[in-house]
Amino acid sequence: MIAPRDARGAGTRAVGLDIGGTKTHGVVLAEDGSILAQVRESTRSGAEGVVDTAERVFEALRRDVGEPLTLPVGVGVPGLVDVGRGMLRHAVNLGVNGDDLPLRDLLADRLGVPVVLENDVNAAALAARALSGADDVVYLSVGTGLAAGLVIDGRLRRGEHGAAGEIGHLPVDPAGAECGCGQTGCLETIASGRALARAWPTPDGPPAADLFAAAAAGDVKAIAVRDRFCWGVASAVRALGLTIDPERIVLGGGVSEVGEPLRVEVVRQLRALGEGSPFLASLGLADRLSMVPLHYPVAAAGAALVASG
Ligand SMILES: [Zn+2]
Repeated sequence: MIAPRDARGAGTRAVGLDIGGTKTHGVVLAEDGSILAQVRESTRSGAEGVVDTAERVFEALRRDVGEPLTLPVGVGVPGLVDVGRGMLRHAVNLGVNGDDLPLRDLLADRLGVPVVLENDVNAAALAARALSGADDVVYLSVGTGLAAGLVIDGRLRRGEHGAAGEIGHLPVDPAGAECGCGQTGCLETIASGRALARAWPTPDGPPAADLFAAAAAGDVKAIAVRDRFCWGVASAVRALGLTIDPERIVLGGGVSEVGEPLRVEVVRQLRALGEGSPFLASLGLADRLSMVPLHYPVAAAGAALVASG
């Protein structure tokens, strides 16, 4: 079990950076997996901006810990990652266009330590596995998009093209919205932060918290939007349950900051899907569902595990 912790002084075990389109989050983990230091900074766009931001976060971690950080650094990034070559592909969210970016080597040069690059959702799945203590774990990230990281028999399953767990692009509604991937009615067009922002626009602040509060207060439109969103998340959980049949399914990502009300509604939708299907109901998917602890830096902690494993 990894638990947040304030105390310093335990041996440093691992360093991880989670580079997102908006924020870059860095953590230093102690030997026992607790968090020795964490830093969050805004990510600057483009290849040079990303490397500059990573360096700034790394330096801040080093200051916080008060000792040189010489261990390999694990780095999680959105997009397709060629782990063997340390290349990042399709990094549109980071403002990196064009050819493959040799991000691993660029970061290693700048930070002065070896770097291991991994897809951010895959990295988070390793932390979800550590949190759950199970060997078969699916981590479902409901962030700007929708994607899953798969840990099977204790090992990350990336797939032949790094596309394992890209469940956001599973079409579920032929009459649904067009997806950025070119298909129609993908899960991501229903169950993602981007979909929520369209269905429940808010002038400022994240729409998810606003939506769940309005629905809890009895707003009929909010209830309809919330229920379709949670039906989408439940459909993703069902698809993962039927393909992987994992011990645990852990919800994370930006939208999961809503906390317990999200889990409760997804469980309700899962039970509704199981009505009329003794087979589906017998799988007990709702009982295997849990959430990343609120505010826990799961992707950065997972990136640290990537480098230490
Ligand atoms: Zn799609």
